[in-house]
Amino acid sequence: MTPVLSELEPGTVWLVGAGPGDPGLLTLHAYQALQQAEVVVYDALIAQPILDLVNPAAVLEFAGKRAGNHACTQAEIAERLIALAQQGKRVVRLKGGDPFVFGRGGEEALALVAAGISFRVVPGITSGLAALAAAGIPATTRATNSAITFATGHFADNGIHDEKLRGLAKSGHPLVLYMAVKSLGAVANVLIEGGLAPDTPVAIISNATTARQKIVDTRLDSAHSDAIAANVQAPAIIAIGDIVRLRPMLAEGIGLLDTNEDSVANPALVQA
Ligand code: SAH
Repeated sequence: MTPVLSELEPGTVWLVGAGPGDPGLLTLHAYQALQQAEVVVYDALIAQPILDLVNPAAVLEFAGKRAGNHACTQAEIAERLIALAQQGKRVVRLKGGDPFVFGRGGEEALALVAAGISFRVVPGITSGLAALAAAGIPATTRATNSAITFATGHFADNGIHDEKLRGLAKSGHPLVLYMAVKSLGAVANVLIEGGLAPDTPVAIISNATTARQKIVDTRLDSAHSDAIAANVQAPAIIAIGDIVRLRPMLAEGIGLLDTNEDSVANPALVQA
């Protein structure tokens, strides 16, 4: 049975979550919007297999940052979305993961409201959750945690945020860090100062759910040096806490340890 999906109307903008990269993780709404769009304004993190699903008659407009090039500002992106909608186009604003999780989708939505443009938000699978699933790490189990924190690694860029990061360490909840590859050394130090054990297990999952997925198993005090040694590149999710200990067992069950040759397993953790 074909599900009934609402139409992407002319003159409207859909803020669509593209998920982490695997096209199988798109929602049906997202898939249909890509087929119905006349213009798709997309970010740097959108994987090619997802762009391949866009209606060939649609115009693809790149809005993100690319090495050496000027990235559009938020104001420029918002203006562009508004102008396209005012021209009566069916507009998809395609964002990695979920548009409202660390993606500035909220700011774009506010600009659309202010301009009186009708819009809709199509949630996507956020990379934090997708990366955990891909690595065999449950976000919660009754034995390990009753809460989980999603945070940005940009915390450590500015000393005034260190106190907040120490607070996250004190909470004892597992942490799922976005945008933290560059700041990993500083973040790990602050978390240890904040009370997390230096041997707290850590998994670094880069390019989750894409052909370039790579997982590094490490611990808090050596996470930074292990990431450098393994040449971890953004985008990556960094999972920190007891939930990571379940990974060796679950990864085996989903065949990950056999098939992912890039995975750098820390033998001490695998045996734990
Ligand atoms: N809205 C997005 C997050 C945007 S911020 C979402 O919900 O996922 C960009 C950060 O997302 C990256 O620095 C990285 O931490 C994370 N990220 C996005 N795609 C990823 C992927 N395929 N694998 C690992 N991390 C990813």
